[in-house]
Amino acid sequence: MTSEEVKKKARALGADLCGVAGMDRFEDAPEGYHPADVFPSCKSVISFACRFPAGTLGCRTHVPYTRVRNSLTAKMDGIALDLCIWLEEKGALSIPVPANESQWDAGTGRWRSIVSQKHAAQAAGIGTIGRHSLLITPEFGSMVWLGAVLTEAELEADSLKERICNGCNLCVEACPVNALEETQMKQQVCWDYAFGDDGEKQIWRIACHKCRDICPYNLGVPAGEHA
Ligand code: SF4
Ligand code: SF4
Repeated sequence: MTSEEVKKKARALGADLCGVAGMDRFEDAPEGYHPADVFPSCKSVISFACRFPAGTLGCRTHVPYTRVRNSLTAKMDGIALDLCIWLEEKGALSIPVPANESQWDAGTGRWRSIVSQKHAAQAAGIGTIGRHSLLITPEFGSMVWLGAVLTEAELEADSLKERICNGCNLCVEACPVNALEETQMKQQVCWDYAFGDDGEKQIWRIACHKCRDICPYNLGVPAGEHA
């Protein structure tokens, strides 16, 4: 089984982008959240992304953005599950990383996915993490949702992307609750403001994506501007 075959399969299952990372690219992972901490026989991390319609940023209701996020979560989990089954049919034990489930890490005082989706995507050469802490891809900017699979298959890793974020700080200035003022995003401050019930309309919604809206690369990198 080759890296190209795996990526072709991921695309056939519905992924728009896919890349592979080796274990050597997770040295900075917090204790307990390295792929090998989660799945000791892991040899490769397969990361994939699906496009997120940019129109959801420009409408006057939070409903479409919230719906797309929820739908894509289910889609990414479905792709990850099907990819695991396909890999296991080929003899490589594999596990899905849930697209939108986090657990409390008392060691660092943050909520974390079992393996960081954003760091896996960066390590797999899909894009680079911007100052707003979102992944930016050359093709679709930050308008992507991420999924990942940990596998025993030893696959050739993709090249890393050069940094895309230009450090303009527009996202930092746009945040209404200053959640980005420090290098590490104030996770709870963002979530308390952006996620929750709309008291008037009585729905759960995502009420803020200003850091995504303002970024000059939220729709991708114009041809010729990125190596
Ligand atoms: S989503 Fe809103 S609250 Fe959260 S960091 Fe971005 S701008 Fe700030
Ligand atoms: S708005 Fe500027 S600083 Fe923030 S992620 Fe985009 S390019 Fe980077």
